[in-house]
Amino acid sequence: MNKPVYVTQPYLPPLDEFYPYLEKIWDSKVLTNCGPFHHQLEQALCDHLGVKHLALFTNATIALVTALQALRITGEVITTPYSFVATAHSLLWNGIKPVFVDVDPNTLNLDPAKIESAITPQTTAIMPVHVYGHPCDVDAIQKIADNYNLKVIYDAAHAFGVKDAHGSVLNHGDLSVLSFHATKVFNTFEGGAVICPDEKTKIRIDHLKNFGHVGEVNVVAPGINGKMSEFNAALGLLQLKYIDQAISCRKQIDAAYRERLKGVKGIDCLKDAGEKVANYSYFPILVQADYPLSRDDLYQKLKDSGIHPRRYFYPLISDFPMYRGLPSANRENLPNANAAAQKILCLPIYPDLQMEAVERICHFIASQ
Ligand SMILES: *Cc1c(COP(=O)(O)O)cnc(C)c1O
Repeated sequence: MNKPVYVTQPYLPPLDEFYPYLEKIWDSKVLTNCGPFHHQLEQALCDHLGVKHLALFTNATIALVTALQALRITGEVITTPYSFVATAHSLLWNGIKPVFVDVDPNTLNLDPAKIESAITPQTTAIMPVHVYGHPCDVDAIQKIADNYNLKVIYDAAHAFGVKDAHGSVLNHGDLSVLSFHATKVFNTFEGGAVICPDEKTKIRIDHLKNFGHVGEVNVVAPGINGKMSEFNAALGLLQLKYIDQAISCRKQIDAAYRERLKGVKGIDCLKDAGEKVANYSYFPILVQADYPLSRDDLYQKLKDSGIHPRRYFYPLISDFPMYRGLPSANRENLPNANAAAQKILCLPIYPDLQMEAVERICHFIASQ
């Protein structure tokens, strides 16, 4: 019996290389409150990603909530139902009404052509997601935002290191939010960051993630505790040394899947969006009607054989109880998202995944 294969497995650098960081923390007794590792990691990530300003957070969900507050977003925000539930939850935590718009059937990202008809006088922003790390149609989205005076906040939880023709995809829109959760390409166990283009916004975000404190005795906003600890920041600094290697392993696995699944009837690999630099964070396939099994039967059979893929994203956010009553959650409004949620399967991909396992998975899928 083979060892179970999960959809992802966190990439961990050698443990002995972490001890010197721990020693520094123990010696200085600085555990949090934006200490030296916090500052070092912010700078190192700005350099690595090619972005101007970055504020570290305890996780991406708190970072999304804070990003919306930093820009004083209210009313309605246009977003996608095809994402992890934290995208829409960050709106509810701010008392904002999510308005779901359908996705493009090829990229599964928010379809810019459908945004305009969802805009009302209450709309203040658009919150798209770079699903699987494939960049959204950022130019079309910005054009609409400019025409209607809307802010754009990208949930870029999947988009660590992704670049388009202009450089980092994180430089688009007003703010972008990364996740460093254990399941993501780059992890600090738990963590996240807000990327912003100007220093003034970065300072406001830094205040908001620290209770709104400015100096010892002033509190200027109803902030939250969103600070990343020194322990997590140290993990990030060490992880960063290995990230290029980790992504190049993912790239080989991505290529192997594409090659081996090419001829399999009824299985479509999602096209990568042609970005200049991808991160191979997920390997999504669509199980079409002409495949011998339904998506759920394939999912179950793979699980029974010790392979654990995930149905990202199923169910849609718009089908959860706190969202399904919204008029925009109506399935007729979201045909492409609903179709994708029924067909999608994300296959295992992570740096340590063995090629034998990839071959076994592909053989299993091809021989049903
Ligand atoms: C993982 C994820 C989040 C939440 O990130 P956390 O760091 O776990 O809070 C938000 N949005 C998307 C699209 C995600 O995949």
